[in-house]
This record gives sequence, C-alpha cells and structure tokens, in this order.
Amino acid sequence: MAHRSDRRPLLLPLTLALLSLCWAPASPARVVEVSGVPAAGLGQPPADPPLAAAHGYWEVDRDVPCVTPEQHAEIEAQLAANVADLRARGLLPETADKEAGVLLQWPLRAAAHLDDPGYHGISNFVDQDATYPNHLLDYNCGTRTYDLSGGYNHAGTDIFTWPFSWLKMANDDVEVVAAAPGVIVGKYDGYADHNCGFGGGQWNAVYVQHADGSTAWYGHMKSGSTTPKNVGASVAAGEYLGVVGSSGNSTGPHLHFELYDNLGQLVDPWSGPCNSLNADGWWAEQRPYYDPAINALRTHSAPPVWPSCPNTEITNEQIHYQAGDLVYFATYYRDQLQNQISTYQLLKPDGSVWQEWTAWLNVPHYAASWWYWSWYLPFGDDGVWKFRVTYQGQTVEHLFSVGTATAAPSVTGTTRLHPAEPNPFNPATSIRFTLGDGGPIDLSIHDLAGRRVATLRRDVLEKGEHLAVWDGSSDDGATAASGVYFVRLATAGASQTQRIVMLK
Ligand SMILES: [Zn+2]
Repeated sequence: MAHRSDRRPLLLPLTLALLSLCWAPASPARVVEVSGVPAAGLGQPPADPPLAAAHGYWEVDRDVPCVTPEQHAEIEAQLAANVADLRARGLLPETADKEAGVLLQWPLRAAAHLDDPGYHGISNFVDQDATYPNHLLDYNCGTRTYDLSGGYNHAGTDIFTWPFSWLKMANDDVEVVAAAPGVIVGKYDGYADHNCGFGGGQWNAVYVQHADGSTAWYGHMKSGSTTPKNVGASVAAGEYLGVVGSSGNSTGPHLHFELYDNLGQLVDPWSGPCNSLNADGWWAEQRPYYDPAINALRTHSAPPVWPSCPNTEITNEQIHYQAGDLVYFATYYRDQLQNQISTYQLLKPDGSVWQEWTAWLNVPHYAASWWYWSWYLPFGDDGVWKFRVTYQGQTVEHLFSVGTATAAPSVTGTTRLHPAEPNPFNPATSIRFTLGDGGPIDLSIHDLAGRRVATLRRDVLEKGEHLAVWDGSSDDGATAASGVYFVRLATAGASQTQRIVMLK
C-alpha cells in the first residue's frame, strides 16, 4: 500500500438536508451543517490532502399524507364518473378483461437532454400494516414507508428525483411515462407545483386504466406538463404523461405512483415476503429493494447550494477551468449502503492518475447522498481531464477541461500579468500587472501541484497599473522552498499565469 504511511484520519463535515416529500413537515426543507460526525470511512487517502471534503444526505421526514382521505374519496368519485361516461361513449369496454395480465414498466425516464447515469431514488413504499401510527411494514418486511396517527397508511410508491430536484423540475429533466398501456380516465393540471408542505391543495395527476380494469395513479406532476391527450385517449406503455413536480401535498419534486386492481383494491406492485395485498408483483422487471448507484458526477467551482423549499438549487457547476482553479469533485448517489467502497480518480489529459482515493459510508443507508473533495488544479497539465468513480461495479466518468484545450475566456481588455522581476529570484520578486477593467482580482502563488502557497492580493482594484511583491513566504508564515512556482492573476471570468523560480 503506497499510501499506508500517509494514512490519516480525514473527518468529513456532514451536510444534512431534509428531504420531505408528500409528508411535509411544518417547516420547509433545510440544510444543516453538522461537524465532527463523520459518517464516512476513508480508505486510501489521496496523494495530496484536499482543501475541503464533505458529504451529506437527504433525510426522509414524514409528517403529512400526500393524498388526504378526503382528496382520495374525491378522486375516486371523479374517476368512477369518468369511467361510467367513457363506457357510455364506447371508449372503455363495459367489462374489463380481467385475464389481461398487466406488467408495469418503470414509470419515469430521463429526458433526452439529461445524460446522467441516474436521476431518481425511492423514499417510500406502500405501508402493508393497516394499523397506525408507527406500524410500518413494506413489501420486503422493512420500514421504508410511513403512516400517520390520523389513520393514513402510505398507499403508493414515492420516487424522487436526485440530485437537484427543483432544477430538474425547472428543466423538465425527468418525465413521468405510462407504466402500462391503457386509457386516460382522469387528468388534472394547472394546480400549484412548487409546494413545500401540507395544504398544497390538489395535485396535477394522470390516471390510466389498463385492459384488465386496473388503474394507475401518477401524482404530484408539474403544472402545465401533463400530456395534451384528453380523458378517453389511449396511451402506450412508456408514453409521456408529464414532468415530475411538487403539486398537491408535497415538499419536493417526486412521483407518487399508486395502483388499484379491477375491483378497486389497492395493489402493491412490489413482489416480496411481506406483500399481503397481492400474491404476485406487477413489475415486468422489479428493481432491487436497495438499488445503489451513482446518479451523477459533477465538477463545481464552489459547493452546491441547497436553498430552502421551493427555491431552485444553485449548483455552481462548471466544466471549463484554468490551472490553479479550485475544483470540487462531487458524486451523487442513491441508496448508498454501509461499507460500500467507492474509488475516486482524477486523471490528467495524458491518462496518468493525479489523485486517487477511496471512501465508504459508515451508517446503514442513505436514500440520497452526495460527497465532494476539492483541490487546486496543477499547472502544466492543460487538456481534457477525467473524474472517474467506481462503485458497486459501476464506473462513471465526468470530463472537464483545463486551460487552452477549450475556448476558455481569455483575459479581457488590456489586462496583463507582466514578467516578474527578477526571475529567477532570491529573496523577493516584483509582480506588476495591468487591469483593463476595475473589479475583483486574486493574485496568488501556487506550487507545481497547484496548491495555493501565498495570496498576494485579493481585492477590488481600479483599472490600471498595480504592483505586488512576493518575498517567498507562504500564507501560513513559513518560507517556501527553492523551486518552481506559478503566479496566477485571476479576474472576473479569466486568469493568467506565469512561471517563476526561487533560487536559494
Ligand atoms: Zn406518496
């Protein structure tokens, strides 16, 4: 183990976010920083210690039903009236073909423009235990469900989008599709879709009756997103029904998928030892109870911001960088389980490994989680880099560029970093720079690995000539060793660098 002697504890600050879906808490979703509670194991450390490291998760909080009993009765009455009307008009058969077996496809898909390996997670299954409160039993004999003292047992499967659910909703990233072919027997749209709690009113939803008389409910959709097809129209399996949203009693974008058989009895489509509602599962291909996967990799210029509900996340995503830039390398998981090891690699354009490290979770389960580490990018390795993560047999790569390999913004106006004098130098050198525009600047010294050694100026300066001196001391007060360094002048949206040599 090459890094054995380097092994050191790396405490990861823990970021906690509340993921409240149908069952909204009284307060909106929030982000809480918890320090010194490392729910993480770090195996092989990276060659260079990261500037920052953190991870966090969405915590499921369950307070309120997605569909109140009153709303449920109202929906059932409306659907019954629609079905009677459609039968009278010959758009639905008088009696369903009970023998027509219905197998369900996954009711969500990524829009064509989304190229992440994953986009969802599951927060709740059907509660199989009819008693309440706090009598929880999902189809797999676990407790990934909820009930309420008022007599509510969760009757559907909640599938949330992840990461950046609100942004995904804004961009129409995740579509609800028909799990089976059938006829639309109900459709509601135009209700508020940025809800953050109970009392959200009606949801935007589509209801599809299948050939065997069973009916699927697709709830919480984005306003204005439901299929242009009307009640009575046929839909094929996999056909677009709408976009995942947060209408109705909901505090975050997700699909509530609920299913009834031809007699109106609740169906739990998941096959498992504790499913007492129906003997067989209804999925054509059932996903595992825990379905661990990497949903996305990202590079960020700053950690993502998770504002309170219903504000859209600020991702701070960036894929074009300059040498010396600070980059946050983030991995977004669903169903991350204890002790599952991830291997993270940062690969230079020539394919060599710049940093490699491993980590795992030290708590039983996160339905949705994210981890990041950050470094300053080194100098002399411009080109297309790869951030590669391997987890549970899945390898995902995210590409980003450094320096001239891209049309990165060049320095504006007449901004210029002049040659340092003297260079090489001992013990100090003068660094003159001209600003074409006034504004914020960051003049810094970096070592060959990209680590920031000294900050010379970080200020808002006037347009014109400026001078700084580096006396070879680092930000922590030490004297830097002899060798090659880089001066970096960063202005809004651009940077210039210059090689300098300290000789002692
Ligand atoms: Zn639900």
